[in-house]
Amino acid sequence: MATHRSPRQLTEPEIRIKALEELLVGKGLIDSKAVDAMIDLYENKVGPRNGAKVVARAWSDPDYKAWLLKDGSAAIAEFGFGGAEGENMIVLENTEKVHNMVVCTLCSCYPWPVLGLPPVWYKDAPYRSRAVIDPRGVLKDFGLELDDDVEVRVWDSSAEVRYLVLPRRPEGTGGMSEEELAELVTRDGMIGVVAV
Ligand code: FE
Repeated sequence: MATHRSPRQLTEPEIRIKALEELLVGKGLIDSKAVDAMIDLYENKVGPRNGAKVVARAWSDPDYKAWLLKDGSAAIAEFGFGGAEGENMIVLENTEKVHNMVVCTLCSCYPWPVLGLPPVWYKDAPYRSRAVIDPRGVLKDFGLELDDDVEVRVWDSSAEVRYLVLPRRPEGTGGMSEEELAELVTRDGMIGVVAV
């Protein structure tokens, strides 16, 4: 079993940041809504755009895709993405018969360099336990219903290994450029809770 960081204890920097935020909000120097907007920006917009570029390249270039699946960290580093919380990346390819989804059952291990900050639901106990017990139920809640003959594989992230799901390229996107393809890729698709 791979190790994770302690699930419930806040780290020293986290405690300091929390205290600082409360102080600044309390003094009216910052607005907690502005802080939330900032977090949303990194959760949903800035961070996952990196992963989307990787996915779009893999959809466009079979050689790159083969490399990505064989050595995720090196192929991702080609874009300059890497470092903390993403040193050892494994990329999981969704196919007609296999759907991959990623969880961290113990805490919130997440591939920061390609996806940014983990969403709140990813860190919450219901997702962390249900993803393992009832993955199809979780997918259904996210709006994804898979045929019975599709195998669902659930991957448990750890401090050592982080996963990125390579979604299936949508039908009818043959003429699209890499940039256009990247626009189709969502954060949740790369966690594997939706199709793309
Ligand atoms: Fe973890």
